[in-house]
Amino acid sequence: MKEVQGVCSYCGQTSLIQLSETEIKSFSEKEEFHDMTESQIAENLATIKAARLCKCEGASAFRKQEIRRNFEGFVKGDVVNFMDQYDLEEISIVDGYGNKAKLKKKESGQIEVTKTIKDVM
Ligand SMILES: [Zn+2]
Repeated sequence: MKEVQGVCSYCGQTSLIQLSETEIKSFSEKEEFHDMTESQIAENLATIKAARLCKCEGASAFRKQEIRRNFEGFVKGDVVNFMDQYDLEEISIVDGYGNKAKLKKKESGQIEVTKTIKDVM
């Protein structure tokens, strides 16, 4: 474990962020961090984590967006593939944040998706 100062990019609040060697290593494998030294990578990682942990308005708006993007990506990707794979007609899912999606196969074979994205967290 490594402790690095992270600054929330939304409100500027500084906090000590714990980083594991594994996290730093998996980050260093990403293309955009290839040319960075380990301490630069740690700083970047701390900045990202600071924004994830911060309770300010900007950071929570960002987290909401991120959750929404993940949910929409999951529905369009894994869920659609799962329906195809098992030849399912209809599926409804609700995530831990209240986001809902209903997928239904139409006669044409196309999948119709109805989503309800929750705005409060
Ligand atoms: Zn903040």
